[in-house]
Amino acid sequence: MTTVIIGAGIIGTAIAHDLQRRGRQVTLLDRAGIGRGASYGNMASIAVTEFMPASRPSVWRQIPGWMLDPEGPVRIRPGYMPRLIPWFARFVAASRPSRLRRLEEQGAALCQRALGDWQALLAETGLQDQMTEEGCLSLYTDKAEFHADREHIEILERFGFPHQRLTGAEARDLEPELSDRIGLAVLFAQNRSLRDPYRLVTGLADRFAGLGGQIIAGEVTGFARGERITAVRLSDGRSIPADQVVICAGAYSGRLSKLLGEPMPLETERGYHTQIMAPGISMRHSIIWPARAFMVTPTAGGIRVGGTVEMAGWTPRPTIAAARSR
Ligand SMILES: Cc1cc2nc3c(=O)[nH]c(=O)nc-3n(C[C@H](O)[C@H](O)[C@H](O)COP(=O)(O)OP(=O)(O)OC[C@H]3O[C@@H](n4cnc5c(N)ncnc54)[C@H](O)[C@@H]3O)c2cc1C
Repeated sequence: MTTVIIGAGIIGTAIAHDLQRRGRQVTLLDRAGIGRGASYGNMASIAVTEFMPASRPSVWRQIPGWMLDPEGPVRIRPGYMPRLIPWFARFVAASRPSRLRRLEEQGAALCQRALGDWQALLAETGLQDQMTEEGCLSLYTDKAEFHADREHIEILERFGFPHQRLTGAEARDLEPELSDRIGLAVLFAQNRSLRDPYRLVTGLADRFAGLGGQIIAGEVTGFARGERITAVRLSDGRSIPADQVVICAGAYSGRLSKLLGEPMPLETERGYHTQIMAPGISMRHSIIWPARAFMVTPTAGGIRVGGTVEMAGWTPRPTIAAARSR
């Protein structure tokens, strides 16, 4: 039985490795090479404490203000706005209290095991050096900023996620480069950072290939199916036999699911990061500043700063100002 995994980001590569290890015959397919999608440019954070649904009213009510702020964390390309309306209606509908509670429970269940699962995977594959031991600091200049983030902390408390409240001085003991303006902080000790998210995916893909897994470069444009899927079709005319298919194509998964006749209501959320290669400071923890909705992560290649989200569909051109605003 052959399982074809579409998309060699961290999700597809981890699933491919796991299935191959369990004795399946797995083919991992990607059109852009291993780990070259969002898994290349993400914020390198194993963000165990970040499972809160984005559809919370406290978040989406801020969206209009953020859009008017050139340094705000959310941008929507004006021409794309009409196409977003059906998705946004579903997004707002997902802010019903009962739906939010369910989403929180599901997110918490996944994240409660995330660190243990990562540690087991890295130990098994010999990639432990890819993950740091330090947690994440959430920073607040004053009590008002902390108060505004209270909902986040309350949800963590409800699900028993460990966290520690610190004074500004205690936070500076952990990260001496922090400004005196930081009045208080919360340490999420279970969070981790990756030293190089791209190297992690390629390392995992090497282990997968070492177990006998097959890696193919190609773009999936369709499926052959009768009652079941029998093959995956590529843009160059090749057909890859498949008894099972796992779609892990990141932002493009919605398109592929539509081709299968099982559309997922996925919208693209483009993110930006800026890498400061010679920052002139050193830091060990990742840092989030909820009031400005951005994150800073130390990686092997320098300090990575990110947080802007842009709703622009699949247009290939990045908005450079969006990256600079962080
Ligand atoms: C700026 C930014 C920061 C982020 N920071 C974090 C973070 O710190 N922590 C976190 O957990 N998440 C973060 N995310 C979310 C991030 O997207 C995920 O963590 C993770 O990298 C997603 O992996 P993936 O495998 O689902 O997708 P991707 O890495 O995007 O992989 C999908 C793959 O599918 C391939 N593909 C697509 N269509 C086809 C096709 N038709 N045929 C063949 N191949 C195809 C692509 O080439 C790509 O390689 C961030 C995202 C962004 C944009």
